[in-house]
Parts: sequence; C-alpha cells; structure tokens
Amino acid sequence: MHSTIMDFPLTLPHLLERAGKLFGKVEITSRLPDKSLHRYSYADFYRRALALAEALQKAGLKKGDRVATLMWNHYAHLEAYFGIPAAGGVLHTLNLRLHPSDIAYIVNHAEDRFLIVDDVLLKLYEAIKPHVKIERVVVVPLTGQPVPAGLENYEDFLKTATGSFSYPKFDENDPVGMCYTSGTTGRPKGVVYSHRSTVLHSLASALPDSLGLSQRDVLLPVVPMFHANAWGLPYTATMVGCKQVYPGPHLDGESLLDLYEREKVTTTAGVPTIWLGIIQALSKEPTRWNLQKGMRMVVGGSAAPESMIRAFDKFGLEVLHAWGMTEMSPLGTVSRLKRNLLEAPEDERYLYRAKQGLPTPLVEVRAVGEKGEAPWDGKTLGELQVRGPWVAAGYYNLQEEADKWTSDGWFRTGDVVNIDAEGYVKIADRTKDLIKSGGEWISSLDLESALMSHPAVKEAAVIAIPHPKWDERPLAAIVLKEGANASAEELKSFLEPKFAKWWLPEAFVFLNEIPRTSTGKFLKSQLRDQYREWKWE
Ligand code: AMP
Repeated sequence: MHSTIMDFPLTLPHLLERAGKLFGKVEITSRLPDKSLHRYSYADFYRRALALAEALQKAGLKKGDRVATLMWNHYAHLEAYFGIPAAGGVLHTLNLRLHPSDIAYIVNHAEDRFLIVDDVLLKLYEAIKPHVKIERVVVVPLTGQPVPAGLENYEDFLKTATGSFSYPKFDENDPVGMCYTSGTTGRPKGVVYSHRSTVLHSLASALPDSLGLSQRDVLLPVVPMFHANAWGLPYTATMVGCKQVYPGPHLDGESLLDLYEREKVTTTAGVPTIWLGIIQALSKEPTRWNLQKGMRMVVGGSAAPESMIRAFDKFGLEVLHAWGMTEMSPLGTVSRLKRNLLEAPEDERYLYRAKQGLPTPLVEVRAVGEKGEAPWDGKTLGELQVRGPWVAAGYYNLQEEADKWTSDGWFRTGDVVNIDAEGYVKIADRTKDLIKSGGEWISSLDLESALMSHPAVKEAAVIAIPHPKWDERPLAAIVLKEGANASAEELKSFLEPKFAKWWLPEAFVFLNEIPRTSTGKFLKSQLRDQYREWKWE
C-alpha cells in the first residue's frame, strides 16, 4: 500500500512566495552604517529578491553556482538569502571577521563565481582581491557614496531585471547555501545546506518550545548573517512573516537597546558577549529604556551563564538558552522548562535553564564515552553525538574529516556533555582544540605553529582560558630555546601580520616545559586548570 499524499518538495521559493503573498505590509527595518534607519515592507523585499534572482540569471548564473556575500545584517543581505537560491545559486556567506588570507582560501575552496559586498567592506574585499578569481562583484551602496569605478552598483544590477523571472525546477535536496566553520586541524570546512534541510529547520525552530516565533513577533537577530546563517533566523522569520529588524554594523549595547525600544522588539538573538554589553547598559540606566515586557533573548554560541539568566530576569527579560553548530543549520537544543519543572524550587529552575536544553523535534542526541553510550543520569560524561534532517553528513570537498561521523551515521560534535533523566543536555567541556572568543573561533593550532616559527621559541601551546567579556581568550604557553630571549610584546608583534587582531593572545606565560601526555602530546587540560583563574587587567 502507498500513501495517498502528494510528493511535495520542501523548497525555499515556497517560503518566499508565501511571504510575498501574505505579509506584504509587514515591515523590515535595517540600521545603516550612518545609524539612519532603512525601512521597507515584505512586498518590497519580495520584489527585490526576485529581481536579484533574475539579474543573477541574466548575468550567467547556473544552477549550483556559488554567490558569496560579504555583508553585515541588513535588508540587502536578506534579499541575497532568498534571491540567490531562488535563481538556483548557492548563497555563500563570508565571515568578515576572518583574516583576509582565510577568506581568500574559503572563496577559492568554494569556487565562488560572484560576490555581493557592502560598500563599507570594500577595503576587506581589496585585501582578498589579488588572491581570488571572482567574475563579478556587486557593491551594495549603504552609505550613498558612489561605487568605485570598475565595480557594479547593486541597485543598477537589480535594474537589469525586467520582472519576468521564473524559478528553475528544484529538487528539495538541491543546495541553497553554504557556511564555513573553523577546523581544529587544517583549514576551515564548508557545510552545504539544502532546500529541505532549511525548510525543516525553519519549521522546527519556530515551534513554541523552540524559539516560539510567530507572525506577531518583532525579531532582531544580532548574531551575524555570516555566522551559521544568523542561526537560520532570517529564514524562520520570513516563513512566519514576523517584522524583522537588522542592526547593521552597530552591535554595542546602547545602539541595540535603542532599536529594541524604537521597533518594539519581542525576540532577539546573539552570543553571551553581546548580552554582557546590554546588561551593562541596562544596569547603568535601569529606567531609561522602555522594552517590551518579557522580550526573549536567545543566547547561544557559548554557554549562557546562570548569572546572566538571573540578571535579565531582574529586568523582566527572558533568556532562552540554545545550543547549536554550523554543522546543524545550527539549532540542536533549546532550554525551556518542562511542565513538571515549572514548580521546582527557584535554584533548580535556574540550573535547568542554564543547561543547553532539550533536543528539538527531529534532532536525536546521545552521549558516548569510553564505555559506550552514557546513561541519561545527569552525571556520566560523553561526547555529544547527533543526527537529524538538518545535520551535515559531510563537509564540502574534504575527505580528512570523515572521522567526525561514526560508522552508524551520527555526527560527533566535539562537545563533552551529560544528559539528565529529563533529557536536558549539559555541556561540560569540549574535545575541540579551539578557542571561542566573542562567538567566533580562534585556532589554537594556527597560533601555535606561527609562534613556533619564531627563532627564539622552542615550543608553544595555546589554550582557551575564561574571560569575563569575551567568554574565552587564548593564552600562549611558551618554552624558549636555550639562551634565547623574546618578550610577550615581541611575540605578539611577530604574530600581528598573520592574524586578525582579535586572534592575538594578550596572555603569555613562559615555562621551562609544557606538560605532556604519555604519548607526548601537550597536556592542555593541565594547562587549562593551571591558568583558569587568570587575572585580566
Ligand atoms: P559554531 O559552529 O561556530 O556555531 O560553533 C558551535 C560550537 O559552539 C558548539 O559545538 C559548542 O562548542 C559551542 N556552543 C554553541 N552553543 C553553545 C551553548 N549554548 N553553550 C556552550 N557552547 C555552545
């Protein structure tokens, strides 16, 4: 017997068409670099996303071609989120916080054909330009300044469309976008999302027990659109038809609070570092801001400390702790209290809310330790493994990382967790040798290799240590060669040309030897324990 239900593909154009038909009057607001506000409606967004799709096809885009974006969070980026896949292209969001040499590597690895870039980021484009082969560069004129000669103005590019666009035929497993994430060994790795994975992820993340996003909400994603697709929120928001507010490049506490108040924001999302800025601004002038009562702050990317959840509660704002990964589109778990925990003592409720949470529908989790699958007892640790319809099954054009997947088809997250009897996942540690600072990754290995190429350095181990603002910062443990000399300042200057500024360690220690495991590897856990209480200036 067969089902009698249609075989209806899950594709992004469905979400775009629905938004265009149903939510034409809903507003999309963006803060521009000069701090002024750009406002338009879903009707404008819909028209322009299709114009972009048509213009791209006219420019020769073929199905599966990659179109890169180097952009902040704003309306034109949203147009790219939908317009590029509508044309059959693959949206490739470039992380503008990376060093130009890494961006160039990623562009070349993904074989990006086109690039859409904000005019305020042209300097960054100039730095990668000599190292990449991009056929066509389109510049979004956010400042109103003329676009430099030889480059194409995004507004003129859209005008090449005649309004006669028709979608190519899609399979739901066709690609829509790709994001690169940091590798612990070697270069960044690309994840390619499909129409199907994106639609299913949007549905699951909008659910009441996930982010609970509805047409009545006003959403402001602080999380960058170049990091894991701003956690998929532009897709989810467009699917439900809520008002969308984008902060452009202004991510400080005051600018965000001003937008929250002005636009009556009900849900916002970002990494803990951003929320510390908000807590500071709120604590300084507690009565200044008139925010929507119960505004939800989705916190992810790094752990939301319990103290942060308590602090926001005092201001009448609700922290919603979530965990995810670029490899997971990215949503994996959300920490909402189950019905039976609503009446638990206050301290217990906070303990649960500070956990990473319950897996969303369609995501399966298990913790696997040395003795196999860990019991769900809230104690036994194991590596978190996941599977589901929006979890990556491999990286783009990369064989080396195949061990990230188990032989029975689970993705190994590199996060070490326990799972309790209620099913809440709690991250205790991670096996990935990386540092997450302000929501973005720093590679310990890259810093170590660069430090070890300094003539005075015999050995270098770089570890993550806690930092009150950035969550983690790198600490470099250095063993100098006999008779050689080098100061922390000197080593920092040595690293400077090779790395983005925020990668450079401020903390250095000089040791006689670096502790090692029996197999001769650096024993980083010992170093981490030793320097956990680092006194930041
Ligand atoms: P990314 O792919 O850059 O989004 O990073 C994913 C990784 O960030 C996860 O594997 C975790 O190590 C970390 N992460 C994300 N969300 C959380 C969270 N809520 N608590 C702790 N770590 C997190």
